[in-house]
Amino acid sequence: MEDIRHITAEQLTEFLLQNGEKKFRTAQIEEWLWKRGALTFGEMTNLSVALRQLLEQHFTFQRTAIERRVQSSDGTAKYLFTLHDGCQVEGVLIPSGQRVTACISSQVGCALKCAFCATGTLGFTRNLHFSEIFDQYMLMNREAEQLYGHAISNIVYMGMGEPLLNYENVMESVRLITAPAGPGLSPSRITLSTVGIAEGIRRLADDGFKPEVALSLHCADELKRSLRMPVTRSNNFAMLQDALRYLHEKTGKRITIEYLMLKGWNDSVEDARKLFRFCMPFPVKINLIEYNATDSGYEKSPEENVQRFVAFLESKNMVVNIRHSRGQDIDAACGQLAKKGETRL
Ligand code: SF4
Repeated sequence: MEDIRHITAEQLTEFLLQNGEKKFRTAQIEEWLWKRGALTFGEMTNLSVALRQLLEQHFTFQRTAIERRVQSSDGTAKYLFTLHDGCQVEGVLIPSGQRVTACISSQVGCALKCAFCATGTLGFTRNLHFSEIFDQYMLMNREAEQLYGHAISNIVYMGMGEPLLNYENVMESVRLITAPAGPGLSPSRITLSTVGIAEGIRRLADDGFKPEVALSLHCADELKRSLRMPVTRSNNFAMLQDALRYLHEKTGKRITIEYLMLKGWNDSVEDARKLFRFCMPFPVKINLIEYNATDSGYEKSPEENVQRFVAFLESKNMVVNIRHSRGQDIDAACGQLAKKGETRL
């Protein structure tokens, strides 16, 4: 049987009319699905029992469930979700004052094999359907309200997988989460983070993408980056810079550059100079991220290297933020829980 969330509103209306129901039922059912996050027909209490039974006979829900939750001493909570086919992905909730940011996954595993990423070592299994991306948001939103007393205020597509390699499902999930008839989150509170798929960035520009876009650059030396992030070979710096310039021209966006500070690899003043040069064609905001150690053999940059790096960029009038790592005691970097997963709910 088909997941009711995988048919369009028009198809649902057609089904209802064929079965003697009224057209307005579509809006009621859609509200249950995409605003309240229902995962059973029994929850749809404003529908008649007969209609609920009819739906149950023809459709199903491919449910996503929270398999494990691990909470850090700093409040960060990490989730392992099990999908309808047994595949698993991760999500993270990061509270900060009144703000709760949810980091969500777009693929089961990842094919891109960035050397410092735990997910890269899992390999790629499949793309997530938009309903599975939506489920992560809905399930974590309920958790956020219970744990912190606030709903999710921000979303980053920065969990497992490369969102631009699952373009349609990611776009549809953004549409659903920002829909006024659904959760209605503002697009400006959503960030799509990519390791740099030039064609996908151009597509975002052509589609008038409203949320923020972040490039996980991590190294502005092309050869050095290509050795640790093989995606650089098929999406070289010239292609990436062209695509980002195009995105800026079409949408007026300032690009966020994510830069993981790794000791001895990308944290010298010369690396900062290369980063400055890479960013010259478009306006940027730079987030320097403290490394959350995995067993990859990398170490986080010492404080003095970070300070020298920041001082150089600021001398060039660049906007730089330092992001301290959260959830260090729970392996909060993506892919770490799926590899270990020792703490059960
Ligand atoms: S950093 Fe992102 S793109 Fe690279 S392997 Fe990990 S999940 Fe994939």
